[in-house]
Formats: sequence, structure tokens, C-alpha cells
Amino acid sequence: MTQVRTRFAPSPTGFIHLGNIRSALYPWAFARATKGVFVLRIEDTDVERSSQEAVDVIVEGMRWLGLGHDEGPFYQMQRMDRYKEVLSNMRSQGLVYPCYMSTAELDALRERQMAAKEKPRYDGTWRPEDGKVLPPVPEGVLPVLRFRTPKGGSVVWDDKVKGRIEISNDELDDLVVARPDGTPTYNFCVVVDDIDMKITHVIRGDDHVNNTPRQIHVFRALGQEPPVYAHLPTVLNEQGEKMSKRHGAKPVTQYRDEGYLADAVVNYLARLGWSHGDDEIFSREQLVEWFDLDHLGRSAGQFDEAKLRWVNAQH
Ligand code: GLU
Repeated sequence: MTQVRTRFAPSPTGFIHLGNIRSALYPWAFARATKGVFVLRIEDTDVERSSQEAVDVIVEGMRWLGLGHDEGPFYQMQRMDRYKEVLSNMRSQGLVYPCYMSTAELDALRERQMAAKEKPRYDGTWRPEDGKVLPPVPEGVLPVLRFRTPKGGSVVWDDKVKGRIEISNDELDDLVVARPDGTPTYNFCVVVDDIDMKITHVIRGDDHVNNTPRQIHVFRALGQEPPVYAHLPTVLNEQGEKMSKRHGAKPVTQYRDEGYLADAVVNYLARLGWSHGDDEIFSREQLVEWFDLDHLGRSAGQFDEAKLRWVNAQH
């Protein structure tokens, strides 16, 4: 059997709260449970919002909770040459193509489509097809690169949390994989990384479900089978909103400063979206022995500080 390889791929754009760190806990636990490898990747392509300080806070939170990584941290900003190399190979194979449609033209197209009650989408003007004559290349316009999404058919995956998901290819635009200045886009970098880092299981928040069909197509175009996916439901705060800094979530390390035990927080967070029978209290060793992807919960877990205090008291 191939060795399991998981990853945690945070964007270092803010502090890390308990909801975020749960997306590190599960891939860590799964790698430990299967004697696999846990990779840390820093998705820092949003240069304006990313900072080394935020990376340090993530690493500190992971260290406190004992979620050590085996490889990395890899920084996407240090891998730009690699992404550009893959893009240039794809371009020579006709898997991506330059699109000169300006933002203003795209907006106008979108408005026309919405007025006609159609779903707004790129219309493939610049997509080369046999026998099709492309418009003349406008002067002074730098193109984006778009990925040739297969026409017809659908993309299907068996999500470990959500079950079988099938998306018709007609729902998917030709994904922009490079911006006019040549920088690769997020969805593209993720796939190149997951391939290069030989990731077998992608365990991440379900805010990425919409990206998955697009990413699967890029995997296949690059001659790779996609990994197994497990999309985790959101963690809600005590008011039932999505946990976020804006809604008052505390940084992970604040729990350390308040005297919580790392093992108790790990226990509490693990139990928030995964179960092992009726067990509420378990040690780190038990978690590593028991953890699997078949018992991840389907509904959003709600944070409850009183419960965390109770779990803490049991450790
Ligand atoms: N960087 C993304 C985030 O922080 C995660 C991407 C992924 O796991 O594929 O939401």
C-alpha cells in the first residue's frame, strides 16, 4: 500500500483559532494513525495579506498542541518557478490557452447573461477549437491563461465526509490558471503542490468544495489521479456563527495562556467532528490509535467552552 501523505496548508493571513487548527489536527492524526507523513505548506501567495508573523503564530500553535509536521514548511512563494515551468509545459501541450478578454468585456458578458437569466460564465471566445477562427489579438493587452476544462460529462468523487459528489463539466468555467502578469492562481498552485508533495489524502475545510472539481481536472490533465478528499464542516462559535476572528474567536495559544492542557484541547477538537463510539475522553495515544476518516461528522461542530473546561478537567 502507498504510504499515506497528508498536509495542512494554511494561508498565513491572520491568527489561527480553534476552528482553523482542527484542519491541522485531522490530517496530523490520520498521518500518525497510518504511519504516514504530515506535510506543512504555507499558502502565502496573497502577498499583501500574508506575513511571517502569522506563519510563526501557526507554527507556535501547532507546536503547543503537539501537531508536529514531518516535512516543510514549504512556502508557495518560493515555488513560483516550479508553477511557471508546469504552466509552460501545459501551454505547449495545448492544455491551457491565452485569453485576451478584458475585465470590462467579461463584466459586460456577465451582465448580458444575467439579463437573459443565464448563469454568468466565460463563453470560451478564446478557446481554440479545430476549425475555429480566433479573434485578432488586441494590442497591448496581456492575456490570462485559462485551463481547457473538458466539455460534456461530469466530475465525480467520493468525499469521505460528504459522500459522492458529481458536478457536470458544463457548470465549470475554463479556470484562470495564470494572471496577466504571469503569476499562477491559487487553484493551480494547490494542485502542483499536492502532486509534487505526493499528497494521498486532502483533508480540509468544506469552503473548498467548489474548488475540488476544478482541481481534479487539473490533476488529470497533468496525468495524475486526484487524492482522496475529506471536506470538513465548519466549526461554529457559541452563537452558531462560523468561528472567526471577527466573531470574537480567540487565538489558539490563548488557551495555553489560560492554562488549558494541550492534550485536552486536542481531545476536545478531535471529538468536535469525529467520533470513536461513545468515547468523550481520550488520550493523544488513543486518538492516534483510533483515528480514521470513516467517522468524521457530517454536520458542523459547535464550540462550547464549558465542555472544553470539562474535558480539560478530565485530563
Ligand atoms: N490555504 C487554504 C486555506 O487556508 C487551504 C487550501 C487547501 O487545504 O487546499 O483555506
